[in-house]
Amino acid sequence: MLYVRPDYYEKFKCIADRCEATCCAGWQIVIDEGAMECYKSQQGEYGEVLRERIDWSEGVFKQDCRKRCAFLKDNNLCEMYERLGEVSLCFTCANYPRHIEEFENLREVTLTISCPEVARILLEQKEPVKFTEEEIDTDEEEFEDFDLFFFSYLEDARKIMIAILQKRSLSVAVRVSLVQKMAEEMQTIIEGSDLFDLADVFDTYEEEANLAKAVSEAEQELEAFYENKLEIFFYSKTAFERLYKLEFLSEDWEAYLDKCRETLYGEDVQGYHEMQKKFGEYCARTPIDGIDMDILLEQLLVYFVFAYFCGAVYDDNVIGKIRMAVDSVTVLYEMFMAKWVEQDGRLSAEDIQRIVYRYSRELEHSDVNLGIMQR
Ligand code: SF4
Repeated sequence: MLYVRPDYYEKFKCIADRCEATCCAGWQIVIDEGAMECYKSQQGEYGEVLRERIDWSEGVFKQDCRKRCAFLKDNNLCEMYERLGEVSLCFTCANYPRHIEEFENLREVTLTISCPEVARILLEQKEPVKFTEEEIDTDEEEFEDFDLFFFSYLEDARKIMIAILQKRSLSVAVRVSLVQKMAEEMQTIIEGSDLFDLADVFDTYEEEANLAKAVSEAEQELEAFYENKLEIFFYSKTAFERLYKLEFLSEDWEAYLDKCRETLYGEDVQGYHEMQKKFGEYCARTPIDGIDMDILLEQLLVYFVFAYFCGAVYDDNVIGKIRMAVDSVTVLYEMFMAKWVEQDGRLSAEDIQRIVYRYSRELEHSDVNLGIMQR
């Protein structure tokens, strides 16, 4: 089995009791069948304690009134881990924050930015992310009707998209525009004609002379877009409003969105435009606690595209994967701006880290929400 991981993968180490937002609280931890069987037959005095703390009908660990896992001690360490060791952990606990996408003979393992420590690592990543491959002997799962032919096109497309997203000679807006256009062109072919035609799309965005032409067109379109303050305002507001269609996972998320919305769009179009201009200048002038905003946006875009794009092999929804990546980064930028306004022109790395992991918790741990964002 081939394993592919981002190059920062090995930097992760759970900071456990030093974590400001433990993953053992706030959401239900689903127990896999194998672990359920082990817990059922756990011997000794602790076996009884363990069984009492499981909600057997739902297949989850019970929680206290603060939504903390029944095994999470006041010092934020796991009692089951301490008493029975790492082998006792269920699949979710043993693997989080790893996010695994399964394909035929291939496992792509990323780290989800819903973990504060992973968000911090991504914020600190300055170089363009690379991906490492490793062949590991494991039992290979049978994939029925896996479309290897389509998948290889998706892998090629993703490689080209990531190369564009990491082209730092271009503005982030141009990079995004190119990737969106490429996805739109791919989607038309996937829905209508011969997959072989995808090679022509790849040529447009990979071959240097063709790409230069596509860049020049994108720059002209963006220039026209930037002149239309009303369009920019509604584009940003519409992306933000979409978040209200998602199911809310944290109790305080809706109130947080309300506050951001008021800060961002509570004034008129001119007020929004001035705020956006000043925030853009602030980001360009001041690396925020060492964070270059353009690099951060690139890393976030690459994160979403790498983790989700090839999943289109299962639903043919190439454009949805790119929309989710672009909309996510758009609303994250808006949230950074809202925080900066609310703090009178100050924004720290911790602020950004918190916004990133909170957003990811709302989006990436709900299939419903992932589906809505891939509309
Ligand atoms: S959220 Fe991340 S750092 Fe925090 S306890 Fe969970 S795995 Fe560890």
